[in-house]
Amino acid sequence: TNSLSGKVALVTGGSRGIGAAIVKRLANDGATVAFTYASAQQKAEELVKEIEASGGRALALRADSGDADAVKGAVAETEKAFGGIHILVNNAGLANLKPYDQFAIEEFDRMVAVNVRAVFAAVQAAAPQMGEGGRIVNIGSINADFNPFPDNSLYVMSKAAVAGLTRGLARDLAPLGITVNNVQPGPTDTDMNPADGPYAPVVSGMIPVGRYGTGAEIADMVAYLATPGAAFVTGATINVDGGTTV
Ligand code: NDP
Repeated sequence: TNSLSGKVALVTGGSRGIGAAIVKRLANDGATVAFTYASAQQKAEELVKEIEASGGRALALRADSGDADAVKGAVAETEKAFGGIHILVNNAGLANLKPYDQFAIEEFDRMVAVNVRAVFAAVQAAAPQMGEGGRIVNIGSINADFNPFPDNSLYVMSKAAVAGLTRGLARDLAPLGITVNNVQPGPTDTDMNPADGPYAPVVSGMIPVGRYGTGAEIADMVAYLATPGAAFVTGATINVDGGTTV
């Protein structure tokens, strides 16, 4: 389908994993897609080429989400390159598991900066430019409500904050015709959480569907929320988790 043709999207953390799947899906649906990355320049450039080869338009921007000004700069670059911004997907995220007493306090700040502050900064920069029909999708985590493992305190905190920010911003942006939603993936096969990684045997047993999800399955939900038809869905937190949290 081309349900997003004429739209410009920005996806943070689009070079790998769930973000890359979202970039591909939105481009496939007809959007022009800018995306940020932290360091994987080669992967980012390959993704741009892949999208251009199938007739789409894409742009890779290096911007560390830990730097709020860099995030705002990526929004400005997107608008400059493509003449506007209609869809913002806040996907870039950091996981850092440690016993609570072994975190340096700077690691607390980094977690909040990347997983939470960057979301707020991007919304501050993008929402005023979006206008009626704007779409913001945050990528949280089922860990916000469901934490089956030790050592995850800072990540759980950060994703609960994303859910709260979503509810607050949804009310603030509704009068502008902009929706704000929070997609919470369950275990999804990426570099962050490989389906053949150390946690996998335990994790797989917790998923009623019996397997990890794919980035494409998360991207399906994001793509729906980005459509004009999703105008009445806002402030929602939606789990895409194979039933893990039931
Ligand atoms: P990956 O680690 O596989 O990929 C992360 C992506 O985000 C990469 O493109 C990376 O860029 C980028 N990124 C990381 N840190 C920064 C930063 N500081 N600034 C800019 N970009 C950054 O992660 P996933 O795809 O697994 O996760 C994507 C989102 O989904 C995250 O918010 C995560 O918390 C969430 N999530 C993931 C789950 C899972 O099971 N995988 C479950 C629930 C939620 P680069 O390539 O340059 O490093």
